Amino acid sequence: MTIALPSAPAPSADRPVLVWLRDDLRLADHPALVHAAATGRPVVALWVLDEVSPGVRPIGGASRWWLHRSLAALAADLRRLGIDLALARGPAGDVVSAVAARIDAAEVVWNRRYLPAMIEIDTELKARLRAAGREVRDFQASLLHEPDAVRTGGGGPFRVFTPFWRACLAAGTPRRPLPRPAALRPWDGAMASLPLDALELLPRRPYWAAGLDSTWTPGEAGAEARLARFLDEGLATYAVERDRPDLDVASRLSPHLRHGEISPFRVAAAVAERVARHPRLAGHADKFLAEVGWREFAHHLAFHFGDLTTRNFQSRFDAFPWVRDERFLAAWQRGRTGYPLVDAGMRELWATGTMHNRVRMVVASFLTKHGLIDWRDGERWFHDTLVDACPAVNPASWQWVAGSGADAAPYFRIFNPVSQGEKFDPDGVYVRRWVPELAGLPTKHLQAPWTAPAAVLAAAGIDLGRTYPRPIVDHAVARERALAAFAATATAVTR
Ligand code: FAD
Repeated sequence: MTIALPSAPAPSADRPVLVWLRDDLRLADHPALVHAAATGRPVVALWVLDEVSPGVRPIGGASRWWLHRSLAALAADLRRLGIDLALARGPAGDVVSAVAARIDAAEVVWNRRYLPAMIEIDTELKARLRAAGREVRDFQASLLHEPDAVRTGGGGPFRVFTPFWRACLAAGTPRRPLPRPAALRPWDGAMASLPLDALELLPRRPYWAAGLDSTWTPGEAGAEARLARFLDEGLATYAVERDRPDLDVASRLSPHLRHGEISPFRVAAAVAERVARHPRLAGHADKFLAEVGWREFAHHLAFHFGDLTTRNFQSRFDAFPWVRDERFLAAWQRGRTGYPLVDAGMRELWATGTMHNRVRMVVASFLTKHGLIDWRDGERWFHDTLVDACPAVNPASWQWVAGSGADAAPYFRIFNPVSQGEKFDPDGVYVRRWVPELAGLPTKHLQAPWTAPAAVLAAAGIDLGRTYPRPIVDHAVARERALAAFAATATAVTR
């Protein structure tokens, strides 16, 4: 355990408030920070890299890269308000309680998180801090609707999205976002911190994150810029064009929301303001906010039903005959399946740390249904490579596609990667961007290069099996195999 301890006891009688920052790396709409500022006490801000507490899942590579950049941005933003960000590493409960003791914090505050393992850490810490005579407060900040507050008529949790979201909407307009504090009073004790580099979040050898550097601006300013751009350029066509990976219509806010650089309250309020000025945007805004609702739904599922990462939500999938096929898995990971839309998505993911939602569905379906590979293998790959890798949304989405999840896609929905490409990338712009070796193919053959006559392939400089793979599996054969396997599972008893 490495704990960043202040090197001297608090010199003044003015005991500080300790703000423990977690998935909320922002200053605006930050209830814990607003509360700390309002006490008039000095404020100490702390972030802890915890990879060791029980139940904590190690952060994936792309998210580590994101965190490094985001923490640097947050530290600079806090400095402008008058305080430093202290960094530490170790079991969070022990670290926070040790720092609180060392600075003799009057109060310790944080914004709530909802994964069961995180709640356990926070609850235990709360008891420890209170036993030491410190006040503890926590706040709602990262979900518009807290899991305890949204229940079915019978008082249980929702398992189906549509009634869940209807209940959320019926709960009323989310609160207004809080303004960022104008200034924070620094604590005048000497606060030691690990240097950011000591957290070793960035990749070293090789440095594989150049594509991430040129794609993203982690931090609150980057999040605000994305939101502004989406409101100006994406929202007006969102409901009709959000499924098009060739167009830049979706908000790309997911990594910013994942790391809490922007709050869902801020996003919802900004969208509502835009609709108030331009009522014709209402339908697009409803669709967009429903997607934010899917994010909430996943967090609620994780809160109520526990680990979605290892356990099938529907236990009848426990006996599903998943296949171990390292060759298929590796081809999928590297974008070498021979299906251009799948390969484009997997290469986009590797290069930029993200993938368009429609393509995520197609590649996840391809792995679990064409490959019959366990959704957990795909989830793990996404966890490591996505900058928005979310411990609730990622497994919930994988289970949704695989059919084992809550309100899941029916098992017989097996995406055809060719027709999905033709429908959602009609001019082949997306495939040509990420699979450049196919760029010379006419659009007619682009999503299924093996259908192109030999002369057309030759004219495009393609030698199938050499410059680009032949399909790893035949779609029709894979589809029949998957239907048979999934149909057997569908008749089994449901949890
Ligand atoms: P927009 O369309 O602009 O949507 C706005 C916001 O709503 C997003 O930023 C996101 O927070 C939320 N959202 C949108 N679609 C979904 C969805 N289907 N489910 C839940 N929330 C959604 N999203 C993650 O944030 N983290 C993940 O780890 C993740 N893993 C996924 C794995 C699979 C197999 C699939 C099919 C989807 C996954 N998603 C995940 C959901 C979705 O693909 C991304 O949230 C979306 O592509 C992000 O792009 P955007 O910000 O432009 O979305």
